Amino acid sequence: MTVNYLSPPGDKVSLQFARQGDNIVHISEVSKGLACNCICEECDSKLIARKGKVRQHHFAHHEKSDCKGAWETLTHEKAKEVIIEEGYINVPKPDSFDLVPVHFETVEPEVSIGSYRADVVGTHKSGKRLVIEIAVTHSCESKKIQYFEEEKISSIEIYMNDLHSVLSLEEFKEYVLSSAQRIWIFNEKVRRGAKQEKWTEWYENGQKRAERTYKDGRYSEWTYWDANGNVMD
Ligand SMILES: [Zn+2]
Repeated sequence: MTVNYLSPPGDKVSLQFARQGDNIVHISEVSKGLACNCICEECDSKLIARKGKVRQHHFAHHEKSDCKGAWETLTHEKAKEVIIEEGYINVPKPDSFDLVPVHFETVEPEVSIGSYRADVVGTHKSGKRLVIEIAVTHSCESKKIQYFEEEKISSIEIYMNDLHSVLSLEEFKEYVLSSAQRIWIFNEKVRRGAKQEKWTEWYENGQKRAERTYKDGRYSEWTYWDANGNVMD
């Protein structure tokens, strides 16, 4: 199981989300054509809902055609909205990759943490906070990772860069909450060594659990090992 980092689907996957008033909506939820009353989060221009009989239903820019960031921006926004609305995410246990749900009493987007901005922060009823970063086309910058580690801020990153196919709204929710890869940035129970050139984490028994390298300003890919020391692929 390796992730080729920074190989986002980008424009290859048709646009499934759009802004409609205060919400990000899925193509399945709107009326056809301009009646969808949607705009692009990236460039603020009008989107048209193409819901014909032949092609996969999708949003398209009504006039503007050179908008590059629409897919990333809207997918990222929708992922945040899903976590806020659902009020939980599944996270890997410290001693395995098995997932357990963490339920929050409140979930807020765009929270300042030191001089950084977290995508989403969930607060558990115990008062504990979990920072959730959502990586669509680029991961958390290494300085931010270092800061979270130094300050021992519970934080996790969800990788959505393998989203190469069109999902229904329910499938997308499941992807965000559970099946998209997620790995701890900092968790007091997960031992980790963070360095510029290599990022490694271990199981509680000292066995290596995940590793990726950092070169030329980007993280390469993750390699994972199961609890028996076998590479998972
Ligand atoms: Zn746009």
